[in-house]
Amino acid sequence: MQVQAAGQQELTHKRVEDVKLYIDGQFTDAEAGATFENINPFTNKVNNVVAEGRAEDINKAVAAAKRAFEEGPWGKMKVAERMKYIERIADLIEENAEEISYLESLDTGLPISQTKKQAARAAENFRFYSRMVQSVLHGESYPMDDEFINYTVYKPLGPIGLITPWNAPFMLETWKVAPALATGNTVILKPAELSPLTANKLAEVIDKAGLPEGVFNIVHGFGETAGATLVAHPDVKAISFTGETTTGSVIIKNSADTLKKTSMELGGKSPLIVFDDADLDRALDAAVWGIFSFNGERCTANSRLFLHKNIKDEFAEKLKKRVMNIKIGDPMDSKTQLGPLIEKEHFNKVKSYIELAKEEGCEVIQGVVPEEVKAGNFVPPTLLLNAKNEMRVCQEEIFGPVMAVIEFEDEAEVVKAANDVRYGLAGYVWTNDIKRGHRVAQAVEAGMIWINAQNVRDLRIPFGGMKDSGVGREGGRYALFEFYTEPKIIHVAIGDHHIPQFGK
Ligand code: NAD
Repeated sequence: MQVQAAGQQELTHKRVEDVKLYIDGQFTDAEAGATFENINPFTNKVNNVVAEGRAEDINKAVAAAKRAFEEGPWGKMKVAERMKYIERIADLIEENAEEISYLESLDTGLPISQTKKQAARAAENFRFYSRMVQSVLHGESYPMDDEFINYTVYKPLGPIGLITPWNAPFMLETWKVAPALATGNTVILKPAELSPLTANKLAEVIDKAGLPEGVFNIVHGFGETAGATLVAHPDVKAISFTGETTTGSVIIKNSADTLKKTSMELGGKSPLIVFDDADLDRALDAAVWGIFSFNGERCTANSRLFLHKNIKDEFAEKLKKRVMNIKIGDPMDSKTQLGPLIEKEHFNKVKSYIELAKEEGCEVIQGVVPEEVKAGNFVPPTLLLNAKNEMRVCQEEIFGPVMAVIEFEDEAEVVKAANDVRYGLAGYVWTNDIKRGHRVAQAVEAGMIWINAQNVRDLRIPFGGMKDSGVGREGGRYALFEFYTEPKIIHVAIGDHHIPQFGK
């Protein structure tokens, strides 16, 4: 469907090719022939039809991944050779960057200006892990004495299940796929049912890169069927999951019978704290970007803004102006800053939280959705003023462009309130008092804290949350040594050490 033209770019929301499963090196229909429709969040019309994998398709994919791991060359080939494939995937992602950005925006409603960099970041995930595996992933040796030498090696686990969400799907998928493959595992990816398009593109790229059959497999489908089968499968050695806290908890339970290793990247309700000595202009930029970029559908979004009482009124006035100015519109328009939410159900959920905020006593300030885009799932940028941390709108993850604004008087009070929530993913502190910045960063219960900074990501550092926001960390050496490989210790006798003479 042609929507409009702006500048030189023709903006289209066209129907795209149907999506199949990718199993054992083949694009294939689901065994049962089932399909589901993929809906465009801007038009609420069908983007395409997707093959719906179920238990039997997962079983096929796991069998292929197991065969590829045990019998194929992947895990056994020289590291430098395997990394050629990894680098080739990165090259092909870069070559397809424009299409990946387009498909991501078509699928999720994320503004194209914000999906533009996703392919470059995804390619870097592969290049980064290629470098890491070649330079960092090696064992250590521990010579004990003249009689022994002990050493460790890091071995791939086998077939690994990767289960991913719909927000920033391409980035989050490659974040898992890159270290899983680079370390020599084989993979079954179960992408979110609401965002199959760029996952399919990844299958095309990996197919073109010529990886041995069965090394990488994708089964599209729903969580309770495809996802649950993957989690319970005895031949799947580990599950890396990103998604909602409640789903994470179900997955941990369901993986217990087969004693799987799991990694959980879950929800958040992250605080951004502004003290009265902060650089207020920069803090304002960061607060606005942190909640309203990526349509507010961002795990690390600063959904609770704590303002010191001395600056609250001035800061809130500036916030209101910003909210009114955010450009809401077609995600394909390069000027759009806020697009439609992923689907109607989520849109209704976010709207119901805004109603709840009114009932709980907040003053609600919102931007205006232009009449011409009303067919989309648009929630305007929203401020919940005069919020109190104990309100439900401050305790529960809304996962939309909605920020609660809470006043505080002193450091102890704001740290207590920031921590008085079940989540602990991210936190942001703005102050020019260096001691206070570090003190608050130490005290706030979150896996990641930024001081005087927006959410910048360094692939080397551990990414993840504490409390109900996660178990384990992704990124850098954490992914390599603590999740995608298993250390094996080998003790070698180099002398004739004492062996007890038992039963002689
Ligand atoms: P979700 O939990 O609904 O779904 C995530 C994935 O799990 C999907 O692929 C889904 O099909 C699958 N799934 C659902 N039930 C399952 C089951 N019983 N067994 C196996 N798989 C199952 O999450 P979502 O709505 O797609 O994503 C949004 C959530 O993800 C938010 O809570 C957000 O904070 C979180 N998130 C966290 C991070 C992080 O790094 N901590 C990053 C991005 C998103």
